[in-house]
This record gives sequence, C-alpha cells and structure tokens, in this order.
Amino acid sequence: MNQATDLRIPGPTPLPPAVKQALQRDMIPHRGSAFTALFRDLQRQVREVHRTDGDVIILPGTGSAGWEAAIVNTLSPGDTVLSVVAGDFGTRFAKVAKALRLQVEVVEVEWGRAATPAIVRAALERHPAARAVLYTFNETSTGVTNPLAEIGPVVRDHGALLLVDGVSAVAGLPLEMDAWGVDLILSGSQKAWMCPPGLTIVAVGGRVWEAYRRADYPRFFWDFAQYKKAADSGNTPTTGPLTMLFALKAACDMLEAEGLANVYARHHHLGELIRHGLTGLGYGLFADPAYASDTVTAALPPEGVRVPDLIKAMRAGYGIEVAGGQAHMANELLRIGHMGWVHEPELERTLSALGAVTAELRG
Ligand code: PLP
Repeated sequence: MNQATDLRIPGPTPLPPAVKQALQRDMIPHRGSAFTALFRDLQRQVREVHRTDGDVIILPGTGSAGWEAAIVNTLSPGDTVLSVVAGDFGTRFAKVAKALRLQVEVVEVEWGRAATPAIVRAALERHPAARAVLYTFNETSTGVTNPLAEIGPVVRDHGALLLVDGVSAVAGLPLEMDAWGVDLILSGSQKAWMCPPGLTIVAVGGRVWEAYRRADYPRFFWDFAQYKKAADSGNTPTTGPLTMLFALKAACDMLEAEGLANVYARHHHLGELIRHGLTGLGYGLFADPAYASDTVTAALPPEGVRVPDLIKAMRAGYGIEVAGGQAHMANELLRIGHMGWVHEPELERTLSALGAVTAELRG
C-alpha cells in the first residue's frame, strides 16, 4: 500500500516523488551562488502562483505563523480590525488578533455559508474605524470557498487592508492577487503546495509596505522588511530552511510543468467527483453548493453513521485517513482533502471504500 496516496485529510497532503527526492538533498552553503540561483527562481515561481508583482516572503513556520506575521507587520496594538469568521479557522485568526491586543470586531457567518461582499460591506459600515479585514479564502473546517475576488473592491472602498488566510487555497484554487485587490495572502507548505509542514508563504502588495511603516508592533523574527531586503539579493535573513526550500522548489517546478490553469482544472474536476460521489452514497454536502470548495469537502453522513466510527473503519479496513469536523462539528462532519498531489484514482478508491464502510456501519 502506498501510504502517502491514502492521506485524504485536508493537510498535510501526500508528497509527490520529486518532492520526496528534494527532501533527500545534501545541504549547500546558504550564502552561496547555487542557493541564490535557486531562491531567485523560487521567488519568481511563487509570485506567479499568486499572480502578483509584489513581494513574496517565505518564512520558516506554519500557517498560524502567517496570521501573526500579517498582523505585526501591518497594524498597531489597539487598532480596530474586522474579523470575518465563517468557521474554525476564521475563529483562530480572530483569536490571534485578540491575543495581539487588537480591537477585534467579529462578523459571524453561519458555518457552511459564504462570507459575501454584502456581509463584509455591511460590517464595514457598522465599524468604520476598521483598518484591516481578516478574511479566510477557503474555510477548511466547512469546505466553503469564500468569494475573495469580490471582496477586494469592498475593502479598498473603505480604505482598509485586506489580510487573507489562503492556507487551504493557494496553489489549488485560482488566485489573482493583484487583480483582486488582495493586500496580503498567507499559506502553508503542507496543503496544495505539496510539501511537508514547515513553511509559511506570504505574498504582500504595495499597500502592505505603506502600512508597515506605520505599524508599531515590536517585531524581529517575523519582520517582513528583513526578509524583503535579503530576498532582493537572493537570500534569507537567517539560515534558510534549506530542505524545505528544496522541496518547495521541486513542487513549484511541478506546478509550472502542469500549468496553473491545468492545476486548477484538475482540482475543480476532483471537487466535482468527490461531491458527486458523496451524494451518491447518501451523504449531505455541508457547504452552500454555490461556494463548494475544490480543495476540501465537508459532508454530513447518512442516518446511523457516526463520524468517529467511520474514520476508524476507513483506517482499519482500507488504510485511508479521512478527517472529522472541527469545534462543535467535530463529530458531525466528515472532511476529505483533495488538494495538492491528488488524482482521480485515489479519490475513486476513497469513494469505493467509503461506500463499503458506510453500508457496513448502517448495518
Ligand atoms: N488556516 C487554514 C484555513 C487552515 O486550514 C489551517 C490548517 O489546517 C491553518 C490556518 C493553520 O495552519 P497551521 O496548522 O499550518 O499552522
């Protein structure tokens, strides 16, 4: 059994052979010309994935580090922010903002529903002091892809910054950072980037640098300016996480070879396949169908099927790892990840195993 291809949780995701090979590479001098060449090309590729002419900042860390880095580089303690919460990751982003002593105005969106421009516009009207909007592109806990493309203009009209969690979206879902007016978007290497956990990838636009100059959080390790200064000369400010950067380079080469349009089309096809398959097995799709995610699907099991039993049976009988829900939905939802290095056969196998396990559990 190829264990890696049976990882159907929404991250970490399976590693492609080329990425595994990159993880075996020997170390090289982190200040040498070979590293600089690799890192410059990597930055170009990462920019291309975001479709931005702005800067990309690649930090050692996970997605959560990106939340903190986004805040300390753009805001000051006590600033008002609008935190759009439509699931567990939105809640966590808001929690980081509170921990950093921002004045957090939470806009709750019902789980399974999308955070629409109308919701964001109305909330900004209620909170005119908001300097930034914290927004989750793809809510991994609900399987909803929020309409990010339509949010940028609303936030710009208000004069606020749009800080986006793109952890389970970037490199799997179409993104036009500059055209959509996204000021900052962060992601983690262990999702659609097809790498192990360990890197936070943050793309920043020009308005972030303006905000940076006013932001007065104390910061050192997460200080974007030191990353930019080093990156501009093809380097990292501290010893770079070389192995992870080799892995990301291999993954970006794969994305480039496949072509981003094809990568997104593959994700869309897989999203349709899993949604169709799940409904065929009697599962209810949790997300509003108009905003169903092509990287993660959350589903309500049919009568008589308990999610913890389902997870155990999939593991024990088929060696397939699927996920349950989060927070109050922990035992209610089945979540399946289909981002990164995933193709039809793995999802067909998942659906066929789910069919058998579901029938067994229903008795
Ligand atoms: N944001 C989203 C949307 C996520 O899905 C995750 C992790 O699954 C995170 C943030 C947190 O990332 P990490 O666990 O890498 O810190």
